[in-house]
Amino acid sequence: MSKMAITPHVLLHVKQPIYVRVRRYNPDNEQTYIEQFTVHVYPGARVINVLQAIKDQDSTFMFRMSCEAGQCGSCAVHVNGSPVLACVWPASDGDLIEPLNLPVIRDLMVDLVDGIAKIPKIQSSASICQQECQDVCHEKTLSPLHLVPSFAETKEIKELAACLNCLCCVSACPAVKVVDFAGPTAMRGYMRIALDPREARDRIQDAVADGLFSCTTCQSCWTVCPKHIKTPGKAIEKLRAIASDHDLTLPRHREILHLIERTGRSVDSSEKLFLDLVDEVIEPYGEVKGEVVFFVGCMFNARLPDTALDMVEVMRHNGIRLIIPKEQVCCGSPLIRTGQRSPLLSLMQQNMQALSKPGIATVMTMCAGCGSTLKHDYEDLDLPFVVKDVCEVMTEFDIKPDKKLNISATYHDPCHLFGGQEISKEPRVLLSAAVERFIDMPAQCCGSGGGVKAGQPDEANALGELRREMIRETGADIVVTVCPFCEYHLADHSDKPVKNLLTIYRTLLES
Ligand code: SF4
Ligand code: SF4
Repeated sequence: MSKMAITPHVLLHVKQPIYVRVRRYNPDNEQTYIEQFTVHVYPGARVINVLQAIKDQDSTFMFRMSCEAGQCGSCAVHVNGSPVLACVWPASDGDLIEPLNLPVIRDLMVDLVDGIAKIPKIQSSASICQQECQDVCHEKTLSPLHLVPSFAETKEIKELAACLNCLCCVSACPAVKVVDFAGPTAMRGYMRIALDPREARDRIQDAVADGLFSCTTCQSCWTVCPKHIKTPGKAIEKLRAIASDHDLTLPRHREILHLIERTGRSVDSSEKLFLDLVDEVIEPYGEVKGEVVFFVGCMFNARLPDTALDMVEVMRHNGIRLIIPKEQVCCGSPLIRTGQRSPLLSLMQQNMQALSKPGIATVMTMCAGCGSTLKHDYEDLDLPFVVKDVCEVMTEFDIKPDKKLNISATYHDPCHLFGGQEISKEPRVLLSAAVERFIDMPAQCCGSGGGVKAGQPDEANALGELRREMIRETGADIVVTVCPFCEYHLADHSDKPVKNLLTIYRTLLES
């Protein structure tokens, strides 16, 4: 008897076994436990199909679903630690499926009521009809047209109003874990309202009271948002700018503004600055393989000049000529993150002028915050160069050590590199090449960004302590990062030494 040929097309219609682990919760005995399931689903199945197949095996299993088309947001769960919509996320063998970081009702069903109640609703003056609008205006100058958003406002509102209320962003937000913060989607809601002329009241005080200055601008919320709503930049920083106009900026943030206005730097120093320690052009020891302009950033300039000097040595040994313009000033990141925009344009113009060198196409940053700011916030200036993080430059020039340190190391992702520049693979590859044992650790904000370390130190410390626990769990000998703010903050929140990747590379040059 001849066998029927099995074509790939036919295979697509054959269910395959898939093994997953699911975190379950039984409210009757308040027990949380992981249960393993093997179910059969079609190739290309989404997580929701796996959950449905589990439900077919065990009718007590609870999860939420509705539209199955990524439109309603009801099926959000964590898959392997990240919040996703189960109906659009592809299922993979070995997945760990857990509820969102919200109060759990049963199994994967969480209580969404509180989170959604925190999203502010418009208190519309447009409920007054157009004629009444004229009547209530004492000056008789208010045209009904004033109550209609402009095209520009409509565009911005549309982007912010695309929210599904899935609360993936709240589940990913580090700040809500440690302080009373209404969360990213509530801030998105406040900005959506602030843009709408139909709103009857100024709500900025409410936004501040709901934790506007608690956001570390870690970027986690938008990276998990199924609608890619960039809440930190499109809502939180803009609301902070409105708060600044209302004189609601935190006093410590005001001090930073004044320091920048006085010195061109966002941090002070009693030591010699990096820019005073180095020449404007630093030649490599051997053949010139490339050249970059180096944007130092305030932290390396004033607080961690030795780490920047480590980078200089690594580049010199690897054929990279460094141009270090002395006229460079703060990139403006601390002002943008805290909503203080007044001196920004002049800082940006001064930097653009200082960093533009004929024939040199690359400006290299070593600070994640500076890199993200130069890449994204200088867009309107039409920069005549490309901005690259030091990890990108090292990867491009294949800078690798010829030996390894006999230690184990874990890596801390700086938020403005991981989320802000979407760079996570390169530093891991570079670190793996430099130590005998690399132990990975999931990304999580250490609490030093967004003006939180200066403005809300208790919150920054609480987040630092959460990170301490994660570092401890890795069992690594050291923790390595590539951002001066993280390096500086983690030094107080790690039982293990905290080193910059470039310091590791410099150590290897000398060993
Ligand atoms: S902002 Fe994005 S992640 Fe947050 S609730 Fe809305 S759709 Fe979900
Ligand atoms: S940027 Fe980070 S801290 Fe700020 S709201 Fe988003 S997730 Fe929370």
